[in-house]
Parts: sequence; C-alpha cells; structure tokens
Amino acid sequence: MSATDAPRQLTFSLLRILADGEFHSGEVLARQFGVARATVNNALRDVENYGLTLYSVRGRGYRLARPLQWLDAETIRGGLGAERDALHIEILEYATSSNALLLQRAFQGAPGGSVLAVEWQSAGRGRLGRTWFSGLGDALTFSLLWRFESGLAALSGLSLAVGVAMMRALTGLGVPGVGLKWPNDVLLNDGKLAGILLEAQGDMLGPSSVVIGIGLNLAVPETLRGRIDQAVSDLASLEMPVPERNLVLAVLLKNLAKVLSEFAEHGFAPLRAEWESHHVFQMRPVKLSLPDGLLVVGTAMGVTDEGALRLATEQGEKIFHAGEVSLRGA
Ligand code: ATP
Repeated sequence: MSATDAPRQLTFSLLRILADGEFHSGEVLARQFGVARATVNNALRDVENYGLTLYSVRGRGYRLARPLQWLDAETIRGGLGAERDALHIEILEYATSSNALLLQRAFQGAPGGSVLAVEWQSAGRGRLGRTWFSGLGDALTFSLLWRFESGLAALSGLSLAVGVAMMRALTGLGVPGVGLKWPNDVLLNDGKLAGILLEAQGDMLGPSSVVIGIGLNLAVPETLRGRIDQAVSDLASLEMPVPERNLVLAVLLKNLAKVLSEFAEHGFAPLRAEWESHHVFQMRPVKLSLPDGLLVVGTAMGVTDEGALRLATEQGEKIFHAGEVSLRGA
C-alpha cells in the first residue's frame, strides 16, 4: 500500500462496515479505527465517486442507500465445481484496471488460470482505449489469464468463444433475454450488459497468453448511466432477484475455463453455430463503422470459423475482422 492509498484504504474499511445498509455512528466508527471524527467524515465525503449513495443523518450517523455485497474468494472457489483446480482467484479492493494489472503479472510469469477480480476500478478499460464504467458492488470487473501453446495466429475467434461462455453462464443462471453482438458484446433487451476485452501477448508461432477482461453490470447506478454513450442494461432490470455476486462470478469462471479448454483443443469452429444462435443481429440489417470512418451496410449472415463477420452487401458477401470495427443495428 502506498502513502496515497491510505485514505482510500480507510474509505474501503468504513464501507465494509457500512455494507450492511444500517446506520453507523460517526463517533463509534472514529473510535473503532482510532481516528478523528473529521477523518471519518473526509474518508466518506467522496463515495459518490464509487457510484454509491450515502445518507448522513445528524444524531444517527451514516447509512448506505443499499447494502453492498463484497466478493469472497472462498465462496467463489466453492462454486467452481470441476474447474476449481484450473483457476487461482485473487480479489483486490481497487486497482486502475484488472486487465492492466494482470497483463503485468502475466509478463512476470503468473500461471494460466490466474483470476484478478477488482471491487472497484479507477480506470476500467474497453476496446480501443475506451472506458468501462462501474460502481462499487454493482458490477463484476475481473480478468482471467489463459496460456496457449499455439501462437497468436491460432487465437482468432477467441473473443467470440468468450461470448459463448458468457451465454452458457447467464442462461445457466436463469437470465432471460441475453444475446451477443459481434464481435463480443453481451446484450440484454437491447442494452449492453457486459463487455469483453482481450489483450494478448506472445508471437505468431507460440506460445501465447491472453488476458480476458470482463465487465458485467449487476445494477448500473443512475450517476454512471449518463456517462455511458450507448444503451446500457443490467441484471437489476429483470423481473427476477439479482443472483448473488459471488455466484455469478463463479458460474462465469467455470464456463470460461471449460470453453477456453475446448477452444485450445479445437479452435472456434465447433462453437460457431452456438455463437450464431445467440447473435442478436443474425440475418438482420446492420451497419459497420470502419476505422477510416466509412460506414458499410448489409445483412449480418453469421461468422466464419475464425470469428470474422460475414456481411451480405449489394456488392456481394464481405468478410470483416473484429479489429477496429463497430457494429450497430441499421
Ligand atoms: P462497441 O459497443 O461499439 O462494439 P466496443 O466493443 O469497442 O464498442 P467495449 O470495449 O466493449 O466497446 O466497451 C467500451 C464501451 O462500452 C464504452 O465506450 C461505452 O460506450 C460502453 N460502456 C462503458 N461502461 C459500460 C457499462 N458499465 N455498461 C455498458 N456499457 C458500457
């Protein structure tokens, strides 16, 4: 912990107590941590930055608007079933980005199957330098390191395979109405429920390693919605109780480990039909925006064995690789 982390550490320790959603007196909290009342007040002053709403009532103390569920490595491990030995789980209260940190660790030799789940990211990453926003306790933001004997060239289609794992997990949790948008967004009722970011290391001939970052919305706080420039959805919008956070993470990890092992052996081809069955835009009109700003319109016919998009255009069928292309309904 660096000196600049100390105030944040106190904030998180206080939030662990306030997580029950009950009132806690500032005076008692101050005594408990051996600090001045004003220090407690300061530590809790900016919690809206974490997407939280905190009430402060004279004579009663502080109370969070909603209770907070923390991640717990043991509980997650307990839900991994047969994949338990393939995964090594670590939870951090905060980090800039789980992908950035796990990439660093991968470079330093972290084993395949390492999982870094972060309660709150100060600079969550999306594709192409975009930002991923999430509130404390309201999302899952985690990264998984997977090592492959093959080289980077054999990994095309991997990000779509990850989407298949997410579908298996979410449908297994009983979440209705989820689908995929090429190359790898997870949609729920037309809004983005989860994003996937793959960052690879290695060379074309192998071996290679990939850090798979996933952000999934359990409940997006109003304060964050305004900052996201596309339709957003979350599990809280469903007419079912939001499954427990640790359970959701365990089920996601279990399915990821299974699909990644399948992919390492057989590639994307055997998963292609399953992916297409979940594609929200399958056989529907779409527009693609290309890196040079060009728009291409056509019908999404499906994907190739390498995970590239097959688009029927007026000039015939064209193939697009994920790279820097964004797909939208037309
Ligand atoms: P596209 O949606 O155009 O395919 P992308 O796949 O490149 O974009 P990602 O890397 O998956 O995008 O995610 C980054 C984008 O996701 C941001 O630019 C923002 O629009 C959106 N976003 C950021 N945070 C969230 C969130 N919590 N929930 C849903 N969408 C988000």
